Amino acid sequence: MEATQQREGVTAPANWPSKRLDDYVTLIRRMTPEKRIWKDMRVKPLTPRAIDALVSGGWKLIVTSDFTHEESIGSTLHREQEIHLEHSLIGYSRDKVLLHEIVHAHYGMQLYDGMLARAFGFGNACQNNAITDWIARKARAKHLLLRYVISSFGLKPSVYDATSYRAFGSREKVCRQWSSSVEDLEKVCMDGF
Ligand SMILES: [Zn+2]
Repeated sequence: MEATQQREGVTAPANWPSKRLDDYVTLIRRMTPEKRIWKDMRVKPLTPRAIDALVSGGWKLIVTSDFTHEESIGSTLHREQEIHLEHSLIGYSRDKVLLHEIVHAHYGMQLYDGMLARAFGFGNACQNNAITDWIARKARAKHLLLRYVISSFGLKPSVYDATSYRAFGSREKVCRQWSSSVEDLEKVCMDGF
């Protein structure tokens, strides 16, 4: 996915507020009921077992500052079975981008959105970017799954909202992005699901 994803004033679905993304995915679903992903979401859900399958199948996470495209913050290399994650990402952004790439790894090329930079705002790339991030946000909002993903890929837990607090439940891990009190933190879910 792209970092700022700004092209001529248009913002990629991955950066939209959850309500707008939710509405857009509902529309895509209504317009394209034949898309395989709707069925795959049911028969091949993103669960801890699916995370196990990725890890035992050889998928690796590489945290790197080596992105050639200056706006990239995450990418999924299907042939190499690698997820690349921009090293400066922290807190919610890190977890959301990681889940986005895991959705790509799990559901394969049917959700390919890599041409986004060039084909921005048009056709499948935009829809796939929306569906991918929508699934990713729903997955991140499940605290047990979030905990499983973070430990499976060897990352440090970060606490920045109610879900992550439930997942890791420790004041020491509160992300430095978070400026309010832990009491407030427990009331906020980043994705509003
Ligand atoms: Zn993507």
